[in-house]
Amino acid sequence: MGVLTLDHSDARREQIMLTPKRWRDRTIIRAVHDDDLEQVLRDLGLFSAVVAGEVDCAVCGNPVNLSTVGCLFSKLGEVQVTCCQEKCCAAAMATRSDA
Ligand SMILES: [Zn+2]
Repeated sequence: MGVLTLDHSDARREQIMLTPKRWRDRTIIRAVHDDDLEQVLRDLGLFSAVVAGEVDCAVCGNPVNLSTVGCLFSKLGEVQVTCCQEKCCAAAMATRSDA
């Protein structure tokens, strides 16, 4: 539970999958609560879902909103989000895929 599944058209999916390449050198994005975060979420197609409270932490399952986003990371090609608890970011780092 808590894994955001991306269910969009092929074109949208391609856009989502391409965007993380910009972040290749830092697979895990330590979220910063400013315009940068908003832009990253928009690039990933997650912004509206986060604002709407539709995204859960990939680790603990708590709902994540704009002020509680902790880390964004990709695992097996899917973008996942954790809340701002240190343990959740730590778990994300421990389980992330480097592929
Ligand atoms: Zn969490």
